[in-house]
Amino acid sequence: MAHLLAYEGAWEEEYITIRLCTAVLPEVRYARFNKQQEGRVGSDMIWWWVDRSGECFGCLIQAKNIKQNGRQWRIGFQHPHNTGEQLRRLFTTADLLHLPAGFLLYAGDQAYRERMGCTSQHRNRAPCHERPGAAVTLVPALAAEREIQFAESAPWHPDRSAVEVFCQWALPLIDVTAPLPYGASPLYRGLNLGDASHELREFLYTDQVGARKIARHVFDAVGRMAMGQHALATPTTVLDADAACVFSQLPDLRGHFTVPYFGHMLRGLRRELPGYVEQCLSGDVPEDVARHVGSVVLIQL
Ligand SMILES: [Zn+2]
Repeated sequence: MAHLLAYEGAWEEEYITIRLCTAVLPEVRYARFNKQQEGRVGSDMIWWWVDRSGECFGCLIQAKNIKQNGRQWRIGFQHPHNTGEQLRRLFTTADLLHLPAGFLLYAGDQAYRERMGCTSQHRNRAPCHERPGAAVTLVPALAAEREIQFAESAPWHPDRSAVEVFCQWALPLIDVTAPLPYGASPLYRGLNLGDASHELREFLYTDQVGARKIARHVFDAVGRMAMGQHALATPTTVLDADAACVFSQLPDLRGHFTVPYFGHMLRGLRRELPGYVEQCLSGDVPEDVARHVGSVVLIQL
């Protein structure tokens, strides 16, 4: 990104994605397909993280550049022409694939990011643009959608959603996959989980490793956003999930999000990889996958 910024002033999402994936072979395997349908499917990808137990976490991912336009910063979430059509389609595809939706944000080099002028306090943490790994971050689409709603009520500050999404909610990819355990925190202690299983409580309260750790990292971006509403959350009923999911029942909590967020996020955590993953990686891409996405990425933890 730094080289392309210097020589051309910009970079392309797809090029960065390929460079990223090829730089981390063989731990990461990927398959690109559907070149001829590019315009229709965009650069949507299915990402799976799989651990040695076979458990895995999947996410439908759209790569987005953080672009500077004069003094404004944009991620282009409302593409095309500010209609939000692409974002709605991302959620629809995520529902079809039984996956959460997310964005992979490409944010250039440090000098580029420094111009963002983030206004948060950064208590006990490095300024966002200096975070190690800030060039490639992951953010749940639910968090981005919420920030877009906030920004719509503040039209005098049009770059708010891009900078807020990047600074507050986006997770450096290297943090998500770092080999340390992650998750022990009181974040969800105050949340009324109703009849939630012991296994779900343990997932939310204690350190996790492997695919569950990835799921917690990504879930927490949404969980932190919902935190202000924990006290208001009513006793919950449970939603039945897919039988292949690690958690077959999940609290029906919506917060201010457009869908129940436990179900949306944690349907990606499964006991084993769906069959299409190996099929795609071996070049035999099922038609119902090719119809919706342009590539599959598998990260072996
Ligand atoms: Zn910041």
